[in-house]
Amino acid sequence: MKFSLKLLLWTIIVMAVALGFSGYFFVNYVFETSLAREVEQALDENSILSFAFETAALNVPAKYNILQDNTIEEIASNLETGGHGTSRLLRISDENRKILYASDGFEADGALLEQTDKSTKTYRVIKMSEGYYVQTGATVDTLDRILYLETMRDISDVFRERELGFSVYRRVTIAMLIAGTLIMHFISSWLTKPIRLLTKATKRMAAGDYSYRARQVSDDELGLLTKDFNDMANTLEENIGKLEEGIQDRENFVAAFAHELKTPLTAIIGYADMLRSHKLDEEKSFMSANYIYTEGKRLEAMALRLLDIIVTKREETEFQNVSAESIFRYLEDMFVGGGQRFRYRYDSGMVWAEINLIKTVLINLIDNACKASEAGGMIEVEGHRLETGYRFVVKDYGVGIPREEQRNVVKAFYMVDKSRARSKNGAGLGLALCKEILQLHGSVLEIESEPGKGTCIGFTLPNQGKEEADEENRKYRE
Ligand code: ATP
Ligand code: MG
Repeated sequence: MKFSLKLLLWTIIVMAVALGFSGYFFVNYVFETSLAREVEQALDENSILSFAFETAALNVPAKYNILQDNTIEEIASNLETGGHGTSRLLRISDENRKILYASDGFEADGALLEQTDKSTKTYRVIKMSEGYYVQTGATVDTLDRILYLETMRDISDVFRERELGFSVYRRVTIAMLIAGTLIMHFISSWLTKPIRLLTKATKRMAAGDYSYRARQVSDDELGLLTKDFNDMANTLEENIGKLEEGIQDRENFVAAFAHELKTPLTAIIGYADMLRSHKLDEEKSFMSANYIYTEGKRLEAMALRLLDIIVTKREETEFQNVSAESIFRYLEDMFVGGGQRFRYRYDSGMVWAEINLIKTVLINLIDNACKASEAGGMIEVEGHRLETGYRFVVKDYGVGIPREEQRNVVKAFYMVDKSRARSKNGAGLGLALCKEILQLHGSVLEIESEPGKGTCIGFTLPNQGKEEADEENRKYRE
């Protein structure tokens, strides 16, 4: 059952019970009060009649010292009419509770009389032929006789009013329940709107629409739940995006890898087949063998690069403080001669790094700069000491990288100009390796380039590696 329907049903049940009980108690309270008032009036009337009876008995001529039964009847008859043509219901009984006089319609039994004595006035409410009455009983002390006077007061109206009260209350209750149901229907659907919106969002997300968000329509607990849900959805979407990107990267990697393998292998197989099935002259067989050798070498270099990347990802690296001078001296020795001119400018200082890995990064960057430059092109390698770390920059004035390609060049096997890169023995793995190494050092490659003008690739190694910070923290704790 829907939550809003449950809310509606329970509210109606509670309302019905509350209205029912309150109505019952209210009508009954009014009834009890009216009944008590009627009983009081009936007892008062009985007292007045008793007094009137005694007075009338005293006025009987003296010769009748004894009150005769017929005199009693006469007095009772007078009291019954009240002298005004009105009619009362009364009954007079003698000492032995034998009825001496009874009004027409006084049909009550003698049960009340049994409880009545000289000191006790009694009453009861009885139902007699369609109507309700208060029957009262009291003793009348006249001359030498003790008589019993009973009266009846019609209180049917009080009972009728109670019935009327109940029926009015029933109708009011039903009307209020109908109105309450309509109002509660709107209130419950308004209150549960955030739940409906959340359910809709959950379904949309389950169907794969991760960008869908639930609309927040309130600031209460349900509103907060919606906000938390949306926050969760944001994180989820972000993570799924990353996962999808990772999967896409991996697929691209495999595709590129297969392609990079296929090209040299096809050539190697072709030349090898030619060598074994034809008798070639010396020059041609040398060319074929040489092609097989260089392509084989290229495959070997690619395999080694890939291994480097995997090893860099997996292996623990040992960081240490090394002097920038030693790194630059190494590079100066390494890139002597060749077709390019080199300019080295650097600040002295210490660099926090794994020395061999950083050398690999710089060699790759300089190698790329050489490949991108014309013969005799200038390549600048710089080192700047910063407050936060040490920054390396490799600058060339070569072909440059188009803006839209700058994000891609760090991907494995990615080459902007494939034929140009292959002609220079490139496999598109150098920058991917640099990216992995720098990630270990808490740094990234920053590429600035303009096609035709040149490229400037830099990275900053932070002053203190994570390992040393951890070590220091450990010492501090000890
Ligand atoms: P490898 O480094 O594996 O021998 P590669 O040099 O082609 O091959 P990366 O170093 O990863 O591979 O570079 C990827 C691509 O980025 C290059 O093929 C080249 O197109 C482009 N690139 C890199 N550095 C430069 C640069 N300084 N100037 C112009 N293009 C560059
Ligand atoms: Mg390279």
